[in-house]
Amino acid sequence: MFQVMIEPGTYEDARRAVDRAFEIFPTDVRDKTVLIKPNVLRGSEADEGIVTHPAVVRAVVEKVETMKPASITVGDNPGIFSYGANEASFQQTGLMEASGRHYQNIGDESIRVDFNPDFISTVSVSRAVMEADVIISLPKFKTHGLTVMTGAIKNSYGFLPGAQKAKLHKIAGNPRRFHEVIVDVFEIRQPDLFIVDAVVGMEGNGPASPHLRDIGLILASDNAVALDSVIAFMMGCDPAKLGFLRRAQQKGLGEYDLDKTKVAGELRRIPDFTLPPLGGEAILGNKALQEMIHSRTLLRPRADPELCTGCETCVDHCTVSALSMIGGLPQVDADTCITCFCCQEMCPEKAITLT
Ligand code: SF4
Ligand code: SF4
Repeated sequence: MFQVMIEPGTYEDARRAVDRAFEIFPTDVRDKTVLIKPNVLRGSEADEGIVTHPAVVRAVVEKVETMKPASITVGDNPGIFSYGANEASFQQTGLMEASGRHYQNIGDESIRVDFNPDFISTVSVSRAVMEADVIISLPKFKTHGLTVMTGAIKNSYGFLPGAQKAKLHKIAGNPRRFHEVIVDVFEIRQPDLFIVDAVVGMEGNGPASPHLRDIGLILASDNAVALDSVIAFMMGCDPAKLGFLRRAQQKGLGEYDLDKTKVAGELRRIPDFTLPPLGGEAILGNKALQEMIHSRTLLRPRADPELCTGCETCVDHCTVSALSMIGGLPQVDADTCITCFCCQEMCPEKAITLT
């Protein structure tokens, strides 16, 4: 039977619920490399509720530090509005400070892995994800205009650096297929433990809605499907209506039937919780956002010949080998580039722009 913890929690005493999560779901991290992955949708203030709150991240980092891991990495690949702004997003949200000395830009290096050819044959996943012994995922309790809610499964979409997220949005083409995409990304490397910041949740048209709810809970599980089903139920949504949960169950990743989930704590619906439309219209009908997603997929680096010294640093750091030196200047293979922004960040002359 699957198990989900629902524990009262505040940002002042988040550590107590985190300790409880590790008691219920013992996770061996001793001498292991541990990746802690919050939801850092974009740069924002912590109290806007758009990202996993720094207090929860800090509590998890401090807990794991006591368990003598070989190393801890805290990182994420922010979403569409903050592509390439990893450090800035962590700074603004307070997550840099909460990560202690463990922050890493996990968008810097990636590994190409096979993907579902119905969408695209390969994707590049952060090396830190693929090489971690243990992954602790820290989702935020939020709605999402395309997938209705964002929880444990959707948090893994941040394993993809750069504009691949926008590219897959575009390739999916409709909400039904996007539900499939997020499960396929999640399946690449399932995290070992999930701890959800539901102290303050988000309702309405997430994932960056101004409508916040004081919920006062921290949730945890070692199974994402059971956990997301509990979140859906709490939001007032039948888990069986969510395409990504149906697909995850079909793939044997867990079960959304709450009768098959043991709940440690009190499971109850949040009264009058406002959900976005189940068909994804909230985002599909947003023309400006659709254009933004499309434009992000078209960005490519270009070196300024006046500034470029031909040092080849950008070529060396492109983990998908999309750059080669031609006539003394780096040139990009547009089809291979995943718009991870690393070449721009690494160029010592600041010669690269994304156009
Ligand atoms: S890193 Fe910058 S200066 Fe060096 S080759 Fe690339 S664009 Fe030119
Ligand atoms: S060319 Fe630059 S932006 Fe494109 S994948 Fe390589 S490092 Fe990333």
